[in-house]
Amino acid sequence: MNFVILDLEWNGAYSKKAKKFVNEIIEFGAVKTDEQFNIIDTFSMLVTPQIGKKLNSRVSELTHITTQELFDSNNTFTHVLSKFKKFLSDSILLTWGTSDILTLIENCKYYLGEEKLSFMTTYCNLQAYCEHKLGHTDKSRQMGLSTCAEQLSISTNGLELHRACDDAKLSLQCFEKLYDSSDIREFIEIANDEFYRKITFKNTVLYDLRNPLIDKKEFYICCDKCGRKARKKSKWICKNRSFRAQFRCAKCKRDFEGRITFRLKYEGVTVDRRVIEKVKGENAEKPKNILSKLIK
Ligand SMILES: [Zn+2]
Repeated sequence: MNFVILDLEWNGAYSKKAKKFVNEIIEFGAVKTDEQFNIIDTFSMLVTPQIGKKLNSRVSELTHITTQELFDSNNTFTHVLSKFKKFLSDSILLTWGTSDILTLIENCKYYLGEEKLSFMTTYCNLQAYCEHKLGHTDKSRQMGLSTCAEQLSISTNGLELHRACDDAKLSLQCFEKLYDSSDIREFIEIANDEFYRKITFKNTVLYDLRNPLIDKKEFYICCDKCGRKARKKSKWICKNRSFRAQFRCAKCKRDFEGRITFRLKYEGVTVDRRVIEKVKGENAEKPKNILSKLIK
């Protein structure tokens, strides 16, 4: 089985046809390897934009791609995609995080009217795998590719970061360092209907108390020092989509603010609890101990 690591660059452009912003793909970069991580082939193609006629300054600064280069390449999305399909063949497709695959789905929908990537049979989120292997458990903060490379002492010298093909090569180096044939299978997903439902699921924050998915029994805060349930000293209020109240731990003789956020994810409702320390004499706040659990 071969692996294809794909990285895309895109430009946010307003489509009058769709009456919304579309992340229009401007570059495909990919590396193909065998299971021993020998590079078999690479893929690098620019796409001439059809929606946004000018690159956002942030995109051109980051990628160093110029609008002129894109128009000179004279490749439609459909053309590049058909080349990429041949390149992918029956390999496992991998991307760092889900934004690239979601952007590919978005572009296929826009240009071809297809909801699914019919050419993809199996997919793996490389970021999720690397986070798992590195023991990165804080789900509220995703690990960036360069952070991962840094942790693995992978040098980025000689690579042009934020260019599709080099980002794909860097992802590959991280993958190679962390690859373990015994647990990779758990992260390889079959691209069936459930896969699309899951990957396109929009997480939402629940903050309407009348919502039956908010379980009233979850309204408690434990002291982050001793673990005991803290005593509530004020009413719960809802602010910035989280519920907040003042608490006191009788044992530690500490006062703090407790914050609870309910999120509806594909897997169910999660509850995040935070203890916000009161810093004496200042208004400074620092969030502590983010404890996340799945409740439904
Ligand atoms: Zn305590």
